[in-house]
Amino acid sequence: MAIHEKHLIRPENIKTHDNLVIDGVDVSGHWSTFIETRVVTDYNEQLQEEIAALPGGEYIHRCWQCGSCTNSCTVNAINPDFNPRYWIYLIRMGMESELLRDKEIIWQCVSCNKCTYACPRDVVPEGVMKATAHWLEMKGHTETTPSTIFDAEFTRQVVQTGKIEDGRILKNFLLNSKQPLVQDWLIEMVKKMITNLPIKFLFGMGWATIFQPKTKGWGKARAAIEEHIAEEKAAERAALGLDPIK
Ligand code: SF4
Ligand code: SF4
Repeated sequence: MAIHEKHLIRPENIKTHDNLVIDGVDVSGHWSTFIETRVVTDYNEQLQEEIAALPGGEYIHRCWQCGSCTNSCTVNAINPDFNPRYWIYLIRMGMESELLRDKEIIWQCVSCNKCTYACPRDVVPEGVMKATAHWLEMKGHTETTPSTIFDAEFTRQVVQTGKIEDGRILKNFLLNSKQPLVQDWLIEMVKKMITNLPIKFLFGMGWATIFQPKTKGWGKARAAIEEHIAEEKAAERAALGLDPIK
């Protein structure tokens, strides 16, 4: 039988024979491709529940493995190893150690949501990729990604002031992710802004960057949002069997 998605099989598990004759039939080369027998004993039976407990992972149980997400995926078109369908399969089967073999590429999802629109079961695969990347970080399998650092700064600013100010978000993101504040693309962007945007708008941005205005009467809303976030974070950590943050 033909081996579908052969690239998903680790090279060391594929066995071929250059010269093999069975019952007088020459089955050399392509016809003698076998997959090494594999025994998986280290299942994480909670894996699906753990991913489902994180934002975006809620509907993973609906997946029926049609592959539409992978077929439509922007990143898969460039790198066939990036395979949302396969990772969802591993998660649902509890095959954590297999999933961890791809831990360095799962975060590369660009959130284009093509998979989400293609999915016939409303699994929201983009959300599952986010939840899985988040799970990898929370469990300490990967470093905190730039995407998470950006989200944290964005959230911090919204919660503290009820507003976002692009310049400060960008500056703090670069500082927190230990990147230089001066970058070629940033210089180009600033040049374009100076030449194309009205002076009044630029002045407003500069003023907001320096004085960090807050939304009027934001105090109560802020307290409620902070309480809600703390509850959500505690629930997520409990679902993953992690200690609460002190
Ligand atoms: S959102 Fe992520 S997983 Fe979905 S198609 Fe885009 S890159 Fe692929
Ligand atoms: S498109 Fe939806 S149902 Fe199909 S494999 Fe992807 S997540 Fe599963």
